[in-house]
Amino acid sequence: MSKIRFKALSETLNRKPIEVNENTKRSLLFGENVFNETSMRQYLTKDAYVGVMSAISKGTKIDRKIANQVSSAMKEWALSKGVTHYTHWFQPLTGATAEKHDAFFETIGGGLAIEKFEGGQLVQQEPDASSFPNGGIRNTFEARGYTAWDPTSPAFIYGTTLCIPTIFISYTGEALDYKTPLLRALHAVDKAATNVCKYFDKNVRKVTSSLGWEQEYFLIDKALAASRPDIILTGRTLVGHSPAKGQQLDDHYFGSIPTRALNFMRELETECMLLGIPVKTRHNEVAPNQFELAPIYEESNLAVDHNSLLMDVMGKVASRHNFKVLFHEKPFAGINGSGKHNNWSLATDTGINLLGPGKTPMSNLQFLTFFINTIKAVNDNEELLRASIASASNDHRLGANEAPPAIISVFIGAQLTKVLKELEGVTNGKLSPEEKTDLKLNVVGKIPDVLLDNTDRNRTSPFAFTGNKFEFRAVGSTANCANPMTILNTIVAKQLKDFKVEVDALIENNDLKKDEAIFNVLREYIKKSKTILFEGNGYGEAWEKEAKKRGLSNNKTTPEALKVKVADKTIQLFEEMKIMSKVETEARYEIEIEEYTLRLQIESRALGDIAGNHIVPTAIRYQNLLIKNVKGLKEIFGKDFKKHADEQLKLITKISEHIEGLHAKIDDMLAERKKANKIENIEKKAVAYCNKVKPYFEEIRYHCDKLELMVDDELWPLTKYREILFTR
Ligand code: ADP
Ligand code: MG
Repeated sequence: MSKIRFKALSETLNRKPIEVNENTKRSLLFGENVFNETSMRQYLTKDAYVGVMSAISKGTKIDRKIANQVSSAMKEWALSKGVTHYTHWFQPLTGATAEKHDAFFETIGGGLAIEKFEGGQLVQQEPDASSFPNGGIRNTFEARGYTAWDPTSPAFIYGTTLCIPTIFISYTGEALDYKTPLLRALHAVDKAATNVCKYFDKNVRKVTSSLGWEQEYFLIDKALAASRPDIILTGRTLVGHSPAKGQQLDDHYFGSIPTRALNFMRELETECMLLGIPVKTRHNEVAPNQFELAPIYEESNLAVDHNSLLMDVMGKVASRHNFKVLFHEKPFAGINGSGKHNNWSLATDTGINLLGPGKTPMSNLQFLTFFINTIKAVNDNEELLRASIASASNDHRLGANEAPPAIISVFIGAQLTKVLKELEGVTNGKLSPEEKTDLKLNVVGKIPDVLLDNTDRNRTSPFAFTGNKFEFRAVGSTANCANPMTILNTIVAKQLKDFKVEVDALIENNDLKKDEAIFNVLREYIKKSKTILFEGNGYGEAWEKEAKKRGLSNNKTTPEALKVKVADKTIQLFEEMKIMSKVETEARYEIEIEEYTLRLQIESRALGDIAGNHIVPTAIRYQNLLIKNVKGLKEIFGKDFKKHADEQLKLITKISEHIEGLHAKIDDMLAERKKANKIENIEKKAVAYCNKVKPYFEEIRYHCDKLELMVDDELWPLTKYREILFTR
């Protein structure tokens, strides 16, 4: 009998929900463990407060004197809350968050000790980080990277540690993390968008990018997860026959949340409140044991930090509730996968959402300007946007038979499609007074009304306009949002920059009025961006064919998708917008492509082990039982035995066939892996893993899943899908 599986099942069946205390109003808990404006006002001198606030809003430098005051205040605040350690908290390119704790405690001689935390320790640290991926930038035994304080994301307390959000860069200034390029992209979009805003409102000084992510995940029992070596090693199941009941009935979606899961969520949400993560909604998702959590949107850098922090906290809280969170994009074959929709918009410091229609024709022209420029940016950079969300695990969603597809397109709804159509007909050059009035009254002026009944939301589109924001839906659930947000903000920044140049040229050279010039440029953009606009069903062959005709990319695998990241066009874009140097861009590409190979390598090894060392021996054991049974029947019935052993004989043969099939495929996979491992060129190696090794996964799985249906349930070593998904 399979011990681990049944032990895990009995553990799961005996679980009691873990009680949670939830007796404080959330608004009172919110930000309690964050060194936010309230605590800063309380603990900082006026000078220091002004210094930090100006660093946050204007990006000004914080001098050493102020830094000393801030660190000392942070320490006092943290000590008052029982904190003993501090850490620079950063996001290296592993995708996870990293920290190295140091105690405030220091000896000062004479047997005495104090708590100390100085400006220098706040501003800069040198973690022993030589083993984080760096894509060859930082020669590991030559120089180390260092972390530097990012005052735009407030310090927070987690457990008994003061965490200081930081960027991670090499001594020569190259970015080694996710946050540095993101901050540069946010700066770029601020600059470009602010300049464009000046056409409409001279008072705009700053534009911030907002992000509201929606995190999907699976919650499964800890013991059941631990009973599956594939889940432990790869975050997903590599084998497993679909259960008789899956998600056909749609009875989980928005259904009532099971108590154990609900208690987990309540505790998680309390933790989030303390950490200032404004989580707001929770609900069941489509698949059994799949859930979603979403916050109120925030400034993008902060939102990215909060999502990374959340993923970390989720794992810890889940463990206390005897769960394991699966963030993988496709943990179970045949069952809905998980994504992380990135809702994105731009807002001015005057309080205007630039992607929300306004009340007057002029504010609507501003809306249309940003709306159309975003579409144009996506149109011109669709392949790069696809690359920003490429990963081995997201390949199971994009391009597999599930929405959204690997083809990037933009959905805007019927009403806005109509508006664009009308704008496309705007006269070339100067507009007659009649045309201007007509545009104001009947096109630009009508937007708020039409949007209200814009209900035909297309859930299959990878990039959809949803009323006052764009929703980038193709982002994977494991992703660090910084990657897609860096690219999206960069391409929009570049687009807005070009737009400004074109409009200014028309005003100066062609003597057009400002609004005429804007209408003229937008008209051309609409014409050029038709390729990317698509309102139909976002997956299936018909769209693939159509997209191909339009010349849209359809990169289904990560090695294909990533290529554009090092294309000349991309390198130039990043250099022009000051996001990354060529060296940084290439280093990042190397890291991502190597990570892809490593993930597939691990999966291949794990699968070989499971199939060869768990499933084949079990199948043989069961086959032996059958053989014994047939021998017995022969003893009893003599030459008539076949009549009684017919099914058993067939099963014995079938099991043999699958075992043979498995052995052959495992051997072939191993041979391909060995070949691939010898390839020096990292790009070719990734392609070999993708095209030569990965195809065996399905073939091996096929035999395993067939055997699962044949072998006595009592003997089967791996916890089954129905048990993982339906045991509560
Ligand atoms: P759904 O997409 O499930 O219908 P909502 O549209 O209510 O959900 O919102 C999803 C997410 O979008 C939330 O995190 C919300 O805070 C965020 N969001 C709402 N408005 C904006 C905005 N202007 N900019 C960025 N994110 C936004
Ligand atoms: Mg959504």
